[in-house]
Amino acid sequence: MYKGPGLRYLYSVNSVLRRLRRAFNHYLAETEMALGRNRLWSYPSELCIDVSNKCNLRCPYCPTGRGEQGGRGRGSISVDLFRNILDDLAPYAYQLELFNWGEPFFNRELPTLIRDASVRGLRTVISSNLSFPLSDDQVRAVVDSGLSHLAAAVDGVDQQSYEVYRRGGSFDLVMQNLRAFVRAKRELGVSNPYITWQYLVFAHNEGRVEEARRLSAELGLDNFFAMGGLYDDPSWAPKGEYNFNYLKVGEKRCSFLWKKAVFHFDGGLASCCMGFNKHDDFDDFRPGQFRRMWNNEKFVAARRIWTAPLSPLPDGHFCVSCDKVKLFRGLPLTSKMRRPADAEDVPRAVAAAR
Ligand code: SF4
Repeated sequence: MYKGPGLRYLYSVNSVLRRLRRAFNHYLAETEMALGRNRLWSYPSELCIDVSNKCNLRCPYCPTGRGEQGGRGRGSISVDLFRNILDDLAPYAYQLELFNWGEPFFNRELPTLIRDASVRGLRTVISSNLSFPLSDDQVRAVVDSGLSHLAAAVDGVDQQSYEVYRRGGSFDLVMQNLRAFVRAKRELGVSNPYITWQYLVFAHNEGRVEEARRLSAELGLDNFFAMGGLYDDPSWAPKGEYNFNYLKVGEKRCSFLWKKAVFHFDGGLASCCMGFNKHDDFDDFRPGQFRRMWNNEKFVAARRIWTAPLSPLPDGHFCVSCDKVKLFRGLPLTSKMRRPADAEDVPRAVAAAR
C-alpha cells in the first residue's frame, strides 16, 4: 500500500495518541489501586485471553492436564470474539498474553490472532510446551506474525527429568522446535520473538537447573528463568527458595483486580489466571459493556478483601480460597504449598488497620 507523507503523518499522530491514552490509563489504574478504589474508572492495562484450553500433555498439577472440564468443555476462541474483546480493550492495554490453561498452538488461527493484536500496538506473549510436531511453515508463520515473546515450558534436561512433570511430552521434539524458532528468526532477520526457557522447579529436577541454563545458552535462546512450580503434594517442594510468583503480594493488593483482565476461550471473564471453572467466572464478555463487568458485584467484593483488611471475607466468593488472600490476611494456606520465607504472621496491612 502506498504511504505518502500525508498518510505517514496521520499514522504517527495516531500512534502518539494511542501511547498517550495507554500511559494515562496505566497511571490511572496504578493510582486507583494505591488509593484502594473498589469501583474503577480505569481499564485493565494488561489482558490475557486463553485462545485454546486444549492440551496434549498430562501435567499432574494442572486441571487441564488432569482432564478436568471445568464446566466449559474444551475449545478455541473464535476470531470474531477475540476481535470484539480487543475492539473494547486494546486501546487501553499495552500487553496481551494469548494463553492460560491450554496450549495456544491448538488454536489454528494463532498467527492471525497474534497479528491482529500486534497491529493494534499490543505486546504479545505466548507460553507453549512446544512438545508436538511443528512444520517450518508453522514456525515461520508465528515468527512473522509479530509475536513479541515466546516462553517455552521445559522442566528438565533430558527425557527422564522432563517427563516426570510434563507427562506425555517429548524432550527431543521440544529441542527440535526451539532450534526451528531460533533458525527462523535468523533467516527472517528479526529479533522477535524474544525466547525464554521457563523451568518449573520441583524436588525431582532441582539439581538440573544449571545444566538447563547452559543448554538454553547453547541453543541461542534469549533468556532462562527458573521458578517454583505449583504442587499439591509437599514431597514435590524444592529445597531452595525459588520465586513462587503466584503468591506474590508485595504490592499489598492483588494487582489482577485492578490491572489485568483474564478471559477464557468462551468469553468467560475470570477473576485472574487462577480461575478455571465456569461457575467461578465473574462475568461473560458482552461487547460495549466492559466497564459494567469490571465493576460488577464480584469484582467490587474481591477488591474490598484487599482495601478493607479487617472486613469479613465474602461468603462463597472465589477469591476467599486463594492463597494470596490467606497470606494477606495472615490465615493458613488453602493449598499444600510451603509458605514463602518472607511471609509475615500478621501482615503489615492487617496490623495497620487494627
Ligand atoms: S483468586 Fe487470588 S489471585 Fe485471583 S483475583 Fe482473587 S485474590 Fe487475586
